[in-house]
Amino acid sequence: MPTPPSTGRQPASASPPRLSALVVCEGCGRDSPHLRIVQMQWAWSALVVTRHGQATLLVCPPCAGRRLGSASAKTALLGWWGVPFGWFFTPDALVGNLLAAPRPLEANVSMLLHQAAAYAQRGQIFRAQQARLEAAHHARGTAALERQLQEFESVVPTDPRIQRLPDPWRLTSRNALPRIAAALLGLLVLVCAALLVFT
Ligand SMILES: [Zn+2]
Repeated sequence: MPTPPSTGRQPASASPPRLSALVVCEGCGRDSPHLRIVQMQWAWSALVVTRHGQATLLVCPPCAGRRLGSASAKTALLGWWGVPFGWFFTPDALVGNLLAAPRPLEANVSMLLHQAAAYAQRGQIFRAQQARLEAAHHARGTAALERQLQEFESVVPTDPRIQRLPDPWRLTSRNALPRIAAALLGLLVLVCAALLVFT
């Protein structure tokens, strides 16, 4: 059967433009404008042997509390018992998990701007603005990232009337409680170990 000649026009039933996928938390599977890429650290020791490592997580604030808090709790109990590296890697892991800093910074800004664009495509302007403000917070002080943000703002409309919500990653948020509790457990184990050794 011969192929009909092309008219050069789009068919009337052309599919709608494809939306960018929303980024979701790898813990709970939900999308959020407050997702963050963090490095979860851990350490355990046995006399002269210390093992330590880290894993990259893409998580929302509550899941970060659970995952980082769990890694810190195990490190708090098992990390100190190696000489000498347990004494270096254990506090390093506990402090790192407690702060849950966005690392790498560039990947966080790119991910949040993608998220902001995906929300904007869906008409979710408030969430788009929250993701953009989160990206702006991370980009502050880094020239290349601030340029990336300006390029984004020249393409995707923003609403300056929408302010940033209180930071759900701050240490005074209840999301941080598991991380804080695990860090305090580490301190308690260290004090008990010191009392055992030196008394
Ligand atoms: Zn989550």
